This record gives sequence, C-alpha cells and structure tokens, in this order.
Amino acid sequence: MQASRPSQPRPIRRLIIAGGGTAGWMSAAMLSKSLGRLMEIILVESDEIGTVGVGEATIPTMINFHKLLELDEAQFMAATNATFKLGISFENWRAIGEHYIHSFGETGIDHWTAGFQHFWHKGRERGLAGGYGDYCLELRAAQKERFAHLPDDGLNYAYHLDAGAYARFLRRFSEGFGVRRVEGKIGSVNTDPESGHIASLTLADGSVLEGDFFIDCTGFRSLLLGGALGVPYEDWSELLLCDSALAVQTESTERMVPYTRSIAHGGGWQWQIPLQTRVGNGLVYSSRYLDDDSARETLLGNLDSKPLFEPRLIRFKPGQRAQTWKANCVAFGLSSGFLEPIESTSIHLISRNLIRLMQLFPTDGISAADIEEYNRQVSEEMVHIRDFIILHYHLNERQEPLWRACREMEVPATLRHRLELFGDTGRVFREQKELFAENSWIQVMLGQGLIPASHHRSADLMPDHELKGFLDSIRTRVDQLVAQLPPHKDYVRRYCGS
Ligand code: FAD
Repeated sequence: MQASRPSQPRPIRRLIIAGGGTAGWMSAAMLSKSLGRLMEIILVESDEIGTVGVGEATIPTMINFHKLLELDEAQFMAATNATFKLGISFENWRAIGEHYIHSFGETGIDHWTAGFQHFWHKGRERGLAGGYGDYCLELRAAQKERFAHLPDDGLNYAYHLDAGAYARFLRRFSEGFGVRRVEGKIGSVNTDPESGHIASLTLADGSVLEGDFFIDCTGFRSLLLGGALGVPYEDWSELLLCDSALAVQTESTERMVPYTRSIAHGGGWQWQIPLQTRVGNGLVYSSRYLDDDSARETLLGNLDSKPLFEPRLIRFKPGQRAQTWKANCVAFGLSSGFLEPIESTSIHLISRNLIRLMQLFPTDGISAADIEEYNRQVSEEMVHIRDFIILHYHLNERQEPLWRACREMEVPATLRHRLELFGDTGRVFREQKELFAENSWIQVMLGQGLIPASHHRSADLMPDHELKGFLDSIRTRVDQLVAQLPPHKDYVRRYCGS
C-alpha cells in the first residue's frame, strides 16, 4: 500500500502559539524545550482579554510532564504557591452525609486472578474487613493530613497551584528557551485559499504574524480551530448537565489539607483547593436547575474564609471539537474542548496531547495519517474521561431534580458495561493507556454506592484466619507508614514555602 503523502511538504520553520493561558505557556515550554533549536517559536497573547483564571487542581501525570521539562519541583512549587494533592474528597455526592476519597494510590494487594477488591469484598461479607480506603496509603495519609516524599515514588501525588503564577513561571522558562512573546489582540486569522491552511494572524494594531504551524490556545473562543478552520463542536451537555461555574478565592485557613474538596449541593457541587496563602473556591452547577443568584448564595454561604473578590461567572459547554488537529493547526486546552473540572483532567489533557503532538510532530511536512492518528487518540481519551465523570453524577441517591435527572439518564453503552461488570462480579479492567486505572473506578463506584453482588472465587480459597491476617497486615503497614509522615502543612513550609 502506498504511504499517504504529506499534505504540506514544507518544513516547519516558524510556529505560532495563539493564547497565553495555562495551555499556551505549557505548549511554549514543551515545544521550546524540545524543538526550540529547530524553529522559531512565537506566543501571542492579550493582557486585555486575560485568561480563564481557574484550573488549580492537577493529577499525578503533571509530575511526568515536569520531568520532561526537567523542572525543579521545590522551585516550581514555591513559585506557584503550590501544595500537595493526594486525591479528591467527595462529600454528599452519593447522599447527604456520605463521603469518600478518590485517592491517587493503589489499594491493597492484587492477586493475578483477581484484584484486591474481591478479597476486600469477601472480608466485608465475613465481617473481617474495614472500609475499602483503609488499605490505601495515599487515602489514609490524606485523611490524616500528612505528606512526605517516599523513596521509589512510594506515595503518589499531584499539586494544587495558582494558575496565573504557573503561566508566569512557564513563561520565564519558555523565554529562556528562546520563545518570543508578542502582546496583542488577534483581530483576524488568515487562511490560504488553496491549501486551507492558516497562513497568518493579523493583530489589532495591524501587524501580521506569519507561521508554518499554529497552536490554538485561545480558550473557549477557539479563534483558529473553531473559528477560522470551522471545526464543529460536539456538544455533550445531555450527558454532563453542568454548564456554569462561579469562582472565587478566599483567605487561607488554619488547615491545609492535601486533597481537593468536592462538596455536592442541590444544583451542583463546590470545590475547595488549598494553596499556601489562599484557597481556591467555586461552584459548578447546571443553569437548568439552579439560577445564578441562588448559585452565588450557595457558594458564598458555604465558604470557610473571607472572599478576596466577588465571584466570577464562567459559562461552558461540555464537549470536544470534532477534530483537535486540522491542517496546520492543533488546539490545546479549552479551545479543544472541556468536560468539567470534577476530576481535574484538563491540565492533564494539555500535557498528554502535547506529548502526543511531539510524538507525531510534522517537522518535515504534515501527513494526513498523522493527523488522523492524533485525532483518534485524543478523542478516545476524551470519551474515557467523559464516562468516568458521568459515573460520579449517575450513581447517586439524592432527591433534588439535578441529581434525579443524572440518575435517570441513559448513560453511554461503554459506561453501562463497566457498571454492570462491576455490579455483578466486582470485575474492572483497564484498557491500554486509559487514564483512570482500575482503582480509580473501584473507589468511585464503591463511594457512589455500587457494591458488587459477588466476588471472584479466588477470594473464597482463603480461610477466614488467613484472609483476616492478609487484610490486617496491609492495614497495619499503611497505618504505620502514615504515622511516620509529617503534617502536610509543615512539610510544605519546609520544602517549598512561598
Ligand atoms: P485561557 O486561560 O482562557 O487562555 C486563553 C488565552 O488566549 C489567554 O491568554 C487570552 O488572552 C488569549 N486570547 C484569547 N483571545 C485572544 C485574542 N483575540 N487575541 C490574543 N489573545 C487571545 N483544569 C484542571 O486541570 N484542573 C482544575 O481544577 C480545573 N478547574 C476548572 C474550573 C472551571 C470552572 C473551568 C471553566 C475550567 C477548569 N479547568 C481545570 C480547566 C482549566 O482552567 C483550563 O484547561 C486551563 O486553564 C487552560 O485554559 P486555556 O489556556 O485553554 O484558556
């Protein structure tokens, strides 16, 4: 078979990044570190327009991204007012008064035939097991508000950070690798009528920025991919009902918990993200079920400390662009799509898609096959994350209209299958390269109240005394390790106090 020919055989000499939020500067950092010697990289952003100003909770994949950039962790954390994150505490999600933690760790010890959940399930039936989370180091450390780096990456973690400070930090980094920043408002995006590729950006002052390849990081506006190239948006708002958020920062409190708090309310849910010197807060809600004034009242009525400004309203449409790479333009961040912030996946997607682009980078010309492969991978990951997010909403016992609607909705067949598999037999399988591993699904399914009807027979082969010894030994080891960790707040102050 004949290989597909590059649709743009011209080598890339000049790359333009449009937008300087988290997505723009993460792109600038990665592209300049890896390709800065091969091409000129320019980032254009507008101070007048500003950034979305949220996006402060991350997941452990950020550590890998920073390793690729060879960043110094303590320096990065001090510069971004960051704290450690061991998971997310879901409060009142399943029902008012119920809560659980989705932690970043492994729980218990698996057998090759059956995951730990089967042994825990048997133990629970026999009255020998504690809560599922008792067997997870990260979860117990989160509950006890303790943290330290352990040898051999023994404790999985991510960060809470100040999004604005992160962009500034990456800007300094990228400029060190030769990125040129241009201040200006993009007035128009000019395409070549023959190839359909983007040729240049015209700024409001009339200046023109020509380029061979363009990265669209213009946020929800999606000026290049959605606007100039006309890539349609796939709207998932029938599956993810929240479409609005109010965000506000508050003064810091005495506690600095090493987890994000996610607290469900009647018409949505509230986040609390502790940084070193302030707390990020917000309410994500569905405008179909909660009006903006009531949302504001709910948020302000449930803050633990004084707000630093008036809450800011952000509207969004859950979904993704039908393609996130078209012609000579790739979109990252909000311009490529947005689900919602419940599992802090957006910044992960920026870094993951940057790595994908690096692996398929069209240095010597753009190939249609590369574009197709990239779009396939990106879309598959979005669908996987979408299903995981729907799970949180769908399994609930709350009575308010939003929660009833989520419970009663027809979920995608892919999610339905996972729920049936776990509900019937406790089995969970991770497809290759999926972001959320078995333990994430198990923690959330159990936390939302789905207890399997049965377990694998491997667990029945263990007599009670052996099973008890097995479960107790894991729990004891976890508790002993947690007891040796310092309080999170003390560790942060010593390691990276800002
Ligand atoms: P933006 O921050 O909007 O940046 C857009 C850039 O484009 C700006 O620099 C702007 O000036 C520039 N621009 C736009 N138009 C023009 C123009 N005409 N000319 C010149 N420049 C222009 N993600 C997480 O991972 N974790 C979270 O906890 C999380 N929480 C979130 C909570 C909410 C409510 C929302 C809405 C999102 C959240 N996200 C979260 C997503 C996260 O905020 C974004 O993925 C991330 O900030 C990247 O945004 P961005 O850079 O794509 O867009």
